[in-house]
Amino acid sequence: MTTTQTESPRVSLDLSPPPPNAPESLKGLLISESSLSDRIQQLGQDIQQDYQNEDLVVVGVLSGTIIFLADLVRQLSGPIEVDFIGASSYRDGTTSGDFEITRSTKTDLKGRRVLIVDDILDAGHTLTRVHEQLAQQEPKEIRSCVLLEKTARRQVQIEADYVGFKIPDYFVVGYGLDFAERYRNLPYVGVLDDSLLAP
Ligand code: 5GP
Ligand code: MG
Repeated sequence: MTTTQTESPRVSLDLSPPPPNAPESLKGLLISESSLSDRIQQLGQDIQQDYQNEDLVVVGVLSGTIIFLADLVRQLSGPIEVDFIGASSYRDGTTSGDFEITRSTKTDLKGRRVLIVDDILDAGHTLTRVHEQLAQQEPKEIRSCVLLEKTARRQVQIEADYVGFKIPDYFVVGYGLDFAERYRNLPYVGVLDDSLLAP
């Protein structure tokens, strides 16, 4: 089945200066609040057009997806259910540790349409493992939607059906994404100063 994926904007390497009141550790702004809002409205329309009023279970990957998911599902008017799966690979910083499912979904997914929503598709391990985990429940279909996609470090051949923005290989924070659990509350996507990141 094909999807209505409008072309995802490619964000350039050029950063804007950090917004007023940004944390000092922020090197620059990558995606503004208004760009996020415009693109998520468009993504919502794409998803709404594909699913119409059909049964759909939206499964958010904790915790980075919380803000994106909250904004995205409010663009959908069908009879959707929302559930969460916990997946952890990044422990304290920016380097990938062992992968672990930390919370299972509570909804019966058998025979249903499922849309996985994650913050960012990077190496591809998280989306692959979450997909495998949910497939065990034999849903009718699984699609995926990510706010951000970094293609530079992909290790597993996997594509998301809906992508918000394609971004360069920066470690990004804000709008749900963290560094050691901080910065999730920033209303935009920013890039951390290199001095904070492991060499
Ligand atoms: P993957 O398994 O595809 O490498 O990584 C996906 C997960 O790694 C995301 O769900 C996210 O938690 C984390 N991740 C990857 N890149 C970044 C990044 O630039 N910033 C933050 N905060 N998390 C990232
Ligand atoms: Mg994540």
